[in-house]
Amino acid sequence: MRVSWQERFAETPDVLIGASGHRTVARVLDFAIGGEEFTIMAGPCSVESEGQLMAIAHHVRRNGARVLRGGAFKPRSSPYAFQGLGVEALKLLAKAREETGLAIVTEVMSEEDVPLVAEYADILQIGSRSMENFTLLEAAARSGRPILLKRGMVATIADMLRSAQVILDNGNPNVILCERGIRTFETALRNTFDSAGIALLKQICRLPMIADPSHACGDRDLVPALARIGIAAGADGLIVEVHPNPDKALSDGEQSLDFAEFEFMMTALEPWIALRNGAAREDDAYRHDFAGIHPVEAVG
Ligand code: PEP
Ligand code: MN
Repeated sequence: MRVSWQERFAETPDVLIGASGHRTVARVLDFAIGGEEFTIMAGPCSVESEGQLMAIAHHVRRNGARVLRGGAFKPRSSPYAFQGLGVEALKLLAKAREETGLAIVTEVMSEEDVPLVAEYADILQIGSRSMENFTLLEAAARSGRPILLKRGMVATIADMLRSAQVILDNGNPNVILCERGIRTFETALRNTFDSAGIALLKQICRLPMIADPSHACGDRDLVPALARIGIAAGADGLIVEVHPNPDKALSDGEQSLDFAEFEFMMTALEPWIALRNGAAREDDAYRHDFAGIHPVEAVG
């Protein structure tokens, strides 16, 4: 007997697609994530200066982004690496929103910083290293801002869904999951991109799901290919690192696209996104019918 997905993920019932087939759509400014429109989030790994951030914001906006990413508080693999500009970066992000209309996503690393980051950001990012910090998740949830929950680098899908459930349990339904690569025995790339995980989550989980091809591979040459794979797997959007001069970036330069590369990738992705938009609608119609007939197996 095949065990249903509901049984396998019984601990986190509220994040699963129920018999109604309804999905969560997170509203941000004047658009929605997880609905019909594919969402591009792009920007630098770290906010470095006003000039850098404004140039990036205008460039990614011109090329289809809806959300500007930029680290203000940076969790780094090395304690000696650049740790971010903090509140100064938050102010620059807010200025970029004013100038471009882009929504802002930025990471919050500690519970005490939640009110400050929530004052400036439209979406709070919980980074890979913090995915299982439940006190942080609870505080972030209570801010009322949508939460971009990045998969822990050693977290299973069940672990990620448990963290999402904690956010829902604290009164915040607007969780956006993010596949950013996991650690495996493979070391050729920075991480291993779990595209099957995206496909699975789009079948069983009601939450929007985005792909981060930058952190998943750690190499700018691979970013466009992983972006295509993310779209084909069913993701609702992408989050991509962009920098005007990646070789001079204060963090994650190796995986950041320069302006020409980002523009080229966005043009090349257009037919893939168009195909995805049509396919997502058909898929939903199918699931809806199926859910009505066999509620228990609705996610099959
Ligand atoms: C980032 O988005 O720059 C980042 C640090 O991501 P992650 O938490 O996935 O490593
Ligand atoms: Mn980064």
